[in-house]
Amino acid sequence: MVGDGRSAKIAFIDLAAQYQRAGERIDGAIRRVLEHGQFILGPEVAALERRLAEYCGARHCISCANGTDALRLVLMAEGIGPGDAVFVPAFTFVATAGAVRHVGATPVFVDVHRETFNLDTKSLEAGIVAATRGGLKPRCVIAVDLFGQPADYDAIRAVAASSNLAIVADAAQSFGAIRHGRRVGTLAQYTTTSFYPAKPLGCYGDGGAIFTDDDDAAGLLRSLCLHGKGRGQYEFARVGLNSRLDTLQAAVLLEKLDLFPSEIEARQAAAQRYTVALETVAKVPELAEGVMSVWAQYTLVVDCRDELAAACSRAGVPTAIHYAVPLHKQPGYCHYPASLTGLAQSEWLAERVISLPMHPYLETSAQDFVIRAVLDALSGKG
Ligand SMILES: *Cc1c(COP(=O)(O)O)cnc(C)c1O
Repeated sequence: MVGDGRSAKIAFIDLAAQYQRAGERIDGAIRRVLEHGQFILGPEVAALERRLAEYCGARHCISCANGTDALRLVLMAEGIGPGDAVFVPAFTFVATAGAVRHVGATPVFVDVHRETFNLDTKSLEAGIVAATRGGLKPRCVIAVDLFGQPADYDAIRAVAASSNLAIVADAAQSFGAIRHGRRVGTLAQYTTTSFYPAKPLGCYGDGGAIFTDDDDAAGLLRSLCLHGKGRGQYEFARVGLNSRLDTLQAAVLLEKLDLFPSEIEARQAAAQRYTVALETVAKVPELAEGVMSVWAQYTLVVDCRDELAAACSRAGVPTAIHYAVPLHKQPGYCHYPASLTGLAQSEWLAERVISLPMHPYLETSAQDFVIRAVLDALSGKG
């Protein structure tokens, strides 16, 4: 991929390299679906749900059409709607707050920790006060495992319990990660994930899933993603969505799941090398104690972000900004309430974060090329 270091062509995320490894098996899996023809709710869908639940240790896995629907279905299952407050970090992908609006509830923005990029429970407490003063009923917190690192669910549980909040882990970026010996999928009352192609476990289109240990909630979620299906074939017990994972995507994911453990290891190794090489020149990502990240993104915090991005680009190293604008500054979301103590860390991070190329097939020579470009840029040589 990187020969003499001058003709570098580095991908930010390289799905083609993965296909080169597993292409034949994936082709075979797709062909089997084309031959049996059960494109909706085919046998691969149930098989995948079993494998995913087994992999993370959750009692139930309910697959659905995408990670945004997964969040929306959980909020529907909890009966959350108009007049209800759902606490979401201001520094996340827009879908986290979008799902709250889809059910008619009000997102209340909460700040994050600078070090981990994840939800700050002090800010959550102040958010609960803000919501109550604003006449909203605090109902739920959606913590996001940003960039692959699980949030601090012990701290979140303590605050949520005092206000009786449901806890949702938005694990779109963290499926496969571990906190204190437990896999993502078992850390919160509900866990949602996404199989969007660029996520750590991605399919070849849209896909998502929900994990829970609660039998009743699982039954309700299964109904909600199938138009509110009741007992009989044509009985509809409630209003639901049409939100299913395609059989073709399930077949692809079953093959990719076999690669996933070694891919996670490769991501750890790349992240470790970045950190060792860059920790003296930039603020590198910090992991909380006892946490293993799946490194959906490897994100630096620097003061001269635009200069670094430009220098990397000149050197042939792609970078990305997740996220340049916190949600409370987005035109579609700026009128929703925020925690009483403000969102200073989200704003600070939005101006300084920059993500480096990260995928399991990033060879050490390519990692070194990225490292060299960042070091040169930050020492003024780029
Ligand atoms: C990708 C993502 C989602 C949405 O997933 P889709 O499958 O694209 O709908 C939600 N939350 C976070 C944090 C994400 O990164």
